[in-house]
Amino acid sequence: MNLILMGAPGAGKGTQSEKISERWSIPAISTGEILRAAIKAGTALGQEAKTYIDDGKLVPDATVIGIIKEYLASDKCQNGFILDGFPRSIPQAEALDALGVKIDAALSIEVADDTIVKRMSGRRVCSCGASYHVQFNPSKVEGVCDKCGAETYVRADDAPETVTKRLATYHAQTEPLKAYYAEKGLLIEVQGQQEVSDTTRLIFDALDSISV
Ligand code: ADP
Ligand code: ZN
Repeated sequence: MNLILMGAPGAGKGTQSEKISERWSIPAISTGEILRAAIKAGTALGQEAKTYIDDGKLVPDATVIGIIKEYLASDKCQNGFILDGFPRSIPQAEALDALGVKIDAALSIEVADDTIVKRMSGRRVCSCGASYHVQFNPSKVEGVCDKCGAETYVRADDAPETVTKRLATYHAQTEPLKAYYAEKGLLIEVQGQQEVSDTTRLIFDALDSISV
């Protein structure tokens, strides 16, 4: 299964892509994670990306398209993949089409803006890619990742002013992708629920019902 996962920042893409990845045994590729890892490692890519990310803007299309090309060509993606956070603009979607990659579904997790703003303040992440929420999806031990035991932290771009900018960016540049994929008959919309497991169930039901 070749899947695109969409949704506003904080809609739960990262959390749900982990669940899908486990259930279907396909890798999740998160451009956000890749960029944050590059920032942490201090690479040229990281330095370029940081200014955009900290400002709530999208990293230039050419940069993320280059990253995705490399990942999709790798062996581990040959039996399917989940793209978490890519494409995020029409030019990125067109570039993906140009690669000739067949997409089975574009799943959008729908969450209202005011809910997003409330959620982001409680988000905690780990450098291994795991994501938690102090109230809705806490790690077993506060501040410690269940998966790898490392310390969890608040993402720099989860500051309230940046969240507002990221939401504006989402509505202007990413939301038009819903119409793009609806036209191709690939769009599946799922209403994000308060409970992570409830959203997961809706997603699994939707994915079970598409024949791939
Ligand atoms: P969220 O979906 O919660 O905003 P992500 O981890 O997916 O978080 O992305 C964090 C930031 O990384 C984005 O706000 C953006 O600046 C950058 N980014 C991630 N994916 C892309 C992409 N496909 N195109 C451009 N910028 C991206
Ligand atoms: Zn971890």
